[in-house]
Parts: sequence; structure tokens; C-alpha cells
Amino acid sequence: MSRRRRIYEGKAKVLFEGPEPGTLVQYFKDDATAFNNQKKGVITGKGVLNNRISEYLMTRLGEIGVPTHFVRRLNMREQLIREVEIIPIEVVVRNVAAGSLSKRFGIPEGTALPRSIVEYYYKSEELGNPMVSEEHITAFGWAAPQDLDDMVALSLRVNDYLSGLFLGIGLRLVDFKLEFGRLWENEEMRIVLADEISPDNCRLWDIKTNEKLDKDRFRQDLGKVEEAYQEVARRLGILPEGGPVDVKAPKTIQ
Ligand code: UDP
Repeated sequence: MSRRRRIYEGKAKVLFEGPEPGTLVQYFKDDATAFNNQKKGVITGKGVLNNRISEYLMTRLGEIGVPTHFVRRLNMREQLIREVEIIPIEVVVRNVAAGSLSKRFGIPEGTALPRSIVEYYYKSEELGNPMVSEEHITAFGWAAPQDLDDMVALSLRVNDYLSGLFLGIGLRLVDFKLEFGRLWENEEMRIVLADEISPDNCRLWDIKTNEKLDKDRFRQDLGKVEEAYQEVARRLGILPEGGPVDVKAPKTIQ
């Protein structure tokens, strides 16, 4: 058992107290949920792959000046992150119609959108993560107008950069969800990218075949779920040698 203090347990990750103040350890589980927890399952090796994929993408984004909470990967399933105050808004960026957008407006999946569309959802499980507008966000004080401006600007930069990165490995970035946090440094606050970026929260389709290589394989029972996550890692050039096999229990590293 882990000796560290557990700070928070979510559906796909656990946060532990970090080795020094202001840090946390983010542990990636294999658990998967969809449709507001109505569907539950395990995608074997997902945690290992998402840890790597998110490390890779956050590192690349950091290099182009997008501030993130990521510090370094610690082991197969854990990464060290900066502790931030999570803003309770999910920012979704869409390039191609899919999922809830297709459903809401009756636009066939796969239709290219005339331009990238940004949406906001209020992070509340009990309310079913309702879609909200900028007005709700600022009026209810979930984020200040300046915070929101920063979040949108960062989301669009992430979209530009990741769309190109994935295109280079034959994948279309259909849509994705980001979360942000507030990080204080010497009385100054800045908005940084938090959570994870992985096939759990991106839709990625093969450019040529339109094959789905993301969590929709789990949501829609399409099969070959593990293989899809592995394929994304393989194309990024980061598939762990010998596949994503590791010990299941969280291990402390000091
Ligand atoms: N998404 C997510 N967490 C959520 C809801 C959505 O990561 O709680 C991601 C999802 O994987 C997709 C994008 O955000 O890449 C847009 O999702 P959508 O609104 O279409 O909802 P869904 O169809 O996934 O319910």
C-alpha cells in the first residue's frame, strides 16, 4: 500500500501528496467511464499509455510556451505535477463534428466545421457537466473574464499545435477537452494547463480510414480499445518497450 496521502481520487486518476510543497503525484489508472459514469470498465494498460502520451504532449506544449502543470514523469503510471487550483470548467475545442455536437445539432459525424468551435462545460458530476456560456462562468465567479481569455487563447494554441502534430502522424484531431488551473508564484497568479491530454479526452481519427483511435472505441463498444491507445503511442514514437505492462499497485518513489 502507498504511504502517501491521497488528496483526490477521480475516475481515471488519483492525486497523491507530492515530495515537496506545491507538488502532487498524478497516478493514472486503467479504469474507464463514459456517459456520466453509467458505463464503467477497464482498459488494460491505459494508465501506462496515457501517462506517457500526456507527458509527451504536455512537454511539447511547454516547449512552445504553453504553461502546464507537468513537471516530469516518475514511473510507468505516475507523474510529478505542480499543485494548482482547478478551475471548474471543461474547455472543449472542436474541429470536426462528433459526439454531443453532432447529437445536439443533427450534424453528421465527420462533417468539417467551418471554423474551430470552443465550448464550456461546468464541472459538476451531479449536474451532469452542463454546457455553460461565458456569461455563466463570469457571473457565477467560476473564472474571471481575464482567466477565461487566457483559457481560450491557450486552448486555441493547443488546438493549432496538436492538430499539426497529429496530422504529421496520420491522425485527425477531431475534438478534445482541456482543464486549467491557477498557479501562484510570488503573489502572481497564472493560468496553466492541467489534467491530462490523452485518447481519453481527445477524438483522434486515422486520416485515411477514419478509424477511431480514442475512447469512443470504449464508449461505442467498437473493440480493440487497448490497441487504439497503443497505436496512438506507437505513432508518437513513445510506445513503452515490451508493451504497457507493469505492476498494478501504486509504488512510492522517494
Ligand atoms: N470529453 C471529456 N470529458 C468529458 C466530456 C467530453 O474528455 O466529460 C471530451 C471527449 O473525449 C471529446 C470532447 O471532449 O474528445 C467532446 O466531447 P463531447 O461533448 O462530444 O461529449 P461526448 O460525446 O464525449 O459525451
